Parts: sequence; C-alpha cells; structure tokens
Amino acid sequence: MSNRNYSIRQLIQIQACTNCQACADVCPAVAGSFDGKLSAAYRLEVLGRLVKARTGFWRRLGFVKEPTAEELRAFSDTVFRCTLCGNCRQACPAGLDLTHLWHSLRRDLVASEAYPGKIDMIRENLDESHNVFGEDNEERAEWVEDMPDAPEHGYVKERAEVIYFTGCVSSFFPLAQRIPMALAKIFDAARVDFTLLGEDEWCCGFPLLGAGLGGQLDGLIANNVEAIKARGAKQVVFACPSCYRMWQEHYPQEFELFHATEFLGRLLKEDRLPLRELDLTLTYHDPCDLGRGAGTFDAPRDIIKSIPGIRFVELSNHRENCSCCGGGGNLEMIDASLSANIAGNKMKEVQATGAQAVVTACQQCVRTMTTYAKRNKVPVEVMDIVQLINKALAGED
Ligand code: SF4
Ligand code: SF4
Repeated sequence: MSNRNYSIRQLIQIQACTNCQACADVCPAVAGSFDGKLSAAYRLEVLGRLVKARTGFWRRLGFVKEPTAEELRAFSDTVFRCTLCGNCRQACPAGLDLTHLWHSLRRDLVASEAYPGKIDMIRENLDESHNVFGEDNEERAEWVEDMPDAPEHGYVKERAEVIYFTGCVSSFFPLAQRIPMALAKIFDAARVDFTLLGEDEWCCGFPLLGAGLGGQLDGLIANNVEAIKARGAKQVVFACPSCYRMWQEHYPQEFELFHATEFLGRLLKEDRLPLRELDLTLTYHDPCDLGRGAGTFDAPRDIIKSIPGIRFVELSNHRENCSCCGGGGNLEMIDASLSANIAGNKMKEVQATGAQAVVTACQQCVRTMTTYAKRNKVPVEVMDIVQLINKALAGED
C-alpha cells in the first residue's frame, strides 16, 4: 500500500472526519447489512490509521503498526461492499469528498493485492473482450435482430450525426436490451440520424474505476474516441448514466455529450415526439450517477410531466437524497445478496408511494429493481424513462 494513491487534499480529509455518523444513517449498504463496518465513518477510521502507519514519523514513535495481510483483507471486504452511490458524500456535514476517496482507496487496495477475486474477472473481461461480461464484442448490436422493423443497416452505419453509445449492460443483458430497442424506435420516430458503433464500441471504462483499476483506461478511451471520429459524429447520446459520467469526467471533450433524458427533452421541445395519454401513477428513482453524480434532476421530471394523464409522486428520498437501488460499485458481482437487500429496501420505499410503476433512467437500476420485484412478487412495474416515452409515443403500445 502507498499513500501516493491519495492527493494531499484527500490525506487531510481522511483525518478530518468528526465521527458524527451522518454518513452511516444514509448508507444503503449499512441498512442492507445491519453492519456498521460498511459505513464511511468506519472506513475513514481504519484508513486514518493505515495512512499514519505508512508515515515514517508515526511509525518511529511506535503509535501505529503496519496492518497484517489478514487485517488488510478484512478491511478490503468492507471497502468493496459499497455501491459508490455518493449518499455519504451528500450527507457529510464536514464536506468530505468521499466518493473520489473511495475510488482512490480501492486503487490502493488493488495495488496492495487486498481485493475480491471478482476484480480479476473484470480486468480480464475488459482486456480480452472489451466488455464487462466477457461476451464476444462482435455481438454488441445483436439486440437489433430482435426488432422486427429494424432497417437493413441494423443501425450500424458508416456515418451519422449522432452516436448512440449503448454501454455493456444494455448491449448484452436481455432484460436491459429493451432500453436500446425503445430508444432506437424513438429516434426513428423523431427522424434522428444516428448510428451504433457495433463491435467498435468498447466498454467506457467505468467498471475499471469502481474496481480500483483506474490506471488502465487509456486503451478503451482511445478506441471509443477514434470510433466516433471515424463516423463524423459531433453528438453522443447515452442512456447509461455511468457511461455518460465517464465520458464527462475522463474522456477528451471533443463531442457534445447528452444523457438520453436531455436529448429526448430537446426532441419534445421541438415537437418531434407526439405523446398520447397514459393513465398511470408513477414515481421516479434518481440513478446515483445521473442525479448526485452528474447533477441531472430536472430533465427526467420534465419529460414525465410532459406526458398527458400521468400522475407523478415523488419518493420520500428523492433528487440529491435519493437512496441507491443496490446496482452500483460492482456490488452485484461482489456481494449479490447485499445488492438484493438494498434493492428490497428501495422497492419498499417505492411501494409506500402507492405508485403503479417506478421509472428510472439507468439500465442497471432497471435490472436490480426488476429482479427484486419479480423474485418477491412486488406488484410494481419497473421501467426506464426511454421505455416510458416509447409507450407514450402515438401508435406505440
Ligand atoms: S458510497 Fe453509498 S454505499 Fe458506499 S459508503 Fe457511501 S453511502 Fe454507503
Ligand atoms: S458524515 Fe462525514 S464527518 Fe460525519 S462520520 Fe461520516 S465521513 Fe465522518
């Protein structure tokens, strides 16, 4: 381990925690596990000791000892059971930038070889297949074959004005593939000149950040940027908030980037999407990376409110305070049962609103909430906002 994984600001922030526990009160991992060791407060207490143990001054005084490999592993087990939802950062009265700190800490633990085995799988899948599932990347746009009205080019064109960057989950996971299908139909209805990148789309790199492998992004970034340039596009649309955030924060700023909610909001303002009435009471779940992460709260709400007939109710925790669905931070791969417990708490909050449906704007949230609802027979429909618009498009069921 090395303190070089942290900035000076982070090293100061690690020691600035007041142990007020505000972070623990809002942490979905603590609520889903009843284990206070998953809180930011506990993590900072241990990390503070580790940082001091690596500092010559403190070591010479004999106040702190280097952790054993076993202690490091136990600590790592708590660090990776976190969805990186950022609710602790939002709640922290000391203003500590906790989310970025968790990325640095994961990087530190991976460099120290104290990390869950699943991290190696993520690394290998991205190295060998360029997608997080280890699937054949040539099959990235295969979902188009399930669209009876798809054009002959299968939405993979040599040039287009707009790129739809689909992301790994929506490309390969059957339940999530309904989202790109819906978005392609909406784009067709609004006559948007768009293309997919097909096999030239590689993972955006977001899973690497959460895996503590942020030093290995360069190849993925270079490939994706070149693939877009080759098609002459200036605009890129993402239905995945994590891809969107990744491109905003880690890619060269050469294109105009839109989350689907922003792009579709524009199309609605331009009267390019005639929506019919939907008789539905629904609530909206803010995906962590779109809401707290990218600060996009109004675009999805404006879309929902523009559909005639919809009755919109807010969750008790919404906007900046929205609680995570359990799908972030690679948690599903590392501790599937904790991820499901978090989704369960989320669905209880959804049911308390009395809504018939919960709409979100992220394929991973759709996955975790739908899986929980199906397994536990929760009578609430889960859908992405792209699917909601497709449902409301005149003539679409
Ligand atoms: S990022 Fe979310 S899950 Fe992780 S410690 Fe903070 S509040 Fe808990
Ligand atoms: S909310 Fe901030 S200051 Fe309070 S215990 Fe958590 S990390 Fe420390």
